[in-house]
Amino acid sequence: PDPASGAARLSLVRPGAEQAFQIDLSDAQIFKLGPMEWLCVSGETEAKAGVEEKLFSRAIKVVLRTEAESKAFSLAFQRWKQQTISGKAGESLENGSIVACKSKFDTKIEASSAQMYFHYYGQLLHQQNMLQDFVRTGTYYAAVMENRADFEGKVVVDVGAGSGILSLFAAQAGAKHVYAVEASEMVEHAQRLISGNPSFGQRITIIKGKVEEVELPEKADILISEPMGTLLVNERMLESYVIARDRFLAPDGKMFPTTGRIHMAPFSDEYLYVEMANKSLFWQQHNFFGVDLTPLHGSAFDGYFSQPVVDAFDPRLLISQSTYHTLDFTSMKEEDLYEIDIPLSFVSSVGTRVHGLACWFDVLFNGSTVQRWLTTAPGSPTTHWYQLRCVLAQPLYVMAGQEITGRLHLVAHSAQSYTIYLTMSAKMWGVGADPGGILQTSTAKLELKEPYYRLSQPQAYMPQDQQQLPLSSLQAQGSGQQMQDGLSPGITVDQERDSAAFTRQV
Ligand code: SAH
Repeated sequence: PDPASGAARLSLVRPGAEQAFQIDLSDAQIFKLGPMEWLCVSGETEAKAGVEEKLFSRAIKVVLRTEAESKAFSLAFQRWKQQTISGKAGESLENGSIVACKSKFDTKIEASSAQMYFHYYGQLLHQQNMLQDFVRTGTYYAAVMENRADFEGKVVVDVGAGSGILSLFAAQAGAKHVYAVEASEMVEHAQRLISGNPSFGQRITIIKGKVEEVELPEKADILISEPMGTLLVNERMLESYVIARDRFLAPDGKMFPTTGRIHMAPFSDEYLYVEMANKSLFWQQHNFFGVDLTPLHGSAFDGYFSQPVVDAFDPRLLISQSTYHTLDFTSMKEEDLYEIDIPLSFVSSVGTRVHGLACWFDVLFNGSTVQRWLTTAPGSPTTHWYQLRCVLAQPLYVMAGQEITGRLHLVAHSAQSYTIYLTMSAKMWGVGADPGGILQTSTAKLELKEPYYRLSQPQAYMPQDQQQLPLSSLQAQGSGQQMQDGLSPGITVDQERDSAAFTRQV
């Protein structure tokens, strides 16, 4: 800001020139001349009889060295302007003269979807819901605190900081400085939380904006983020995490989490299948106030089966070993997340009806001291992600030892989610079936953005031998689970804080 008038000014200094070229941002515009050239036009003020008046326009040609720099300049310019003309933010400028340089986020994501998305995360109740997920928050805390060496004296970027909790963890672990980037209105609450915790908060800078668009003054040694949605990829925030890596992370920098895995296994759940099929029975009525509803039965049936089911299920419903697909956040390309194609191959351990594919995920914090996994597997302590099941409208029949093949194909769309294409096949068996193998194939198309939250139904699974035990031993079991996976020793989260928080579980 100009010290005299308070108006926001942009100073451009020509190499070798003494005087800076001053631009009043409140009325300045830029026009794209070429991929790396911009014309910056602003009104010039002249005092006439003591009254300041805009008399003429001045223009300066700004030439950037690279296209990336050019893009960054135009984005930064828009932001400066938005900060200047508060209340007018986002409004298009006169004559449509400015070809606003859209960020990677804006070109992929529908504006209405983004608006709802950031409105959701701008509300404290939804941040609280995530904070109260003890498995989630406790595992992040443990992963950071057990790997102090990765944070001490380091520059950290918190990608999608929300309430700022992970920034505060990083600062507790001794970070030199944390840049907390958050696009929603939650930044105001985060600022208050950080100011209220000054011993760490002093080392945290909150930056409002999308990680695709903001600029940071220095490179980061480590990124921390919680970008996981249902089925890991829902919300398409992993793409932002990867973009943040390319924009902010120093070479050889670390990422927390480091990798993620989508796990899959076929399941048999007659009860769930009947429940879903029955939902459309309403449309079987021939005389609903004199109206025949049956013409819509087929569509209603398809509609219910296009919803992936989100709940915590008993892992004994799985009929084979699970397989997984790994996403390495440190090396993958952002485009790798546009379409994910996973071949499926399982061997059924029982003869049964197969009702679909069950999915869950885990992520790894590959710390230099301790490797820690955050898992959402069935049978592990429940998280707010639960598990996800894709139910086939046409179940398959399998014998024990029989192979089930197929494909899980995820296609990203502009509403920050995915369309799921599932194919599952098994050879026919029984009387009359050709042993040479006619395939029974069942397909499903599901919308990840429209899940069926089935949480009033069966409760979280707890092994028989633990049903009488208090919650604290359930948590201890959780860390035991991690050790069974050949990983780090027990969680070191203090047990006092969580008893209340844990009550959210199912
Ligand atoms: N880190 C917090 C919040 C996680 S939820 C925690 O662990 O509790 C994800 C957050 O990322 C949301 O607050 C959301 O608004 C933010 N976010 C998602 N995409 C973003 C993007 N592209 N740029 C900046 N923030 C983003």
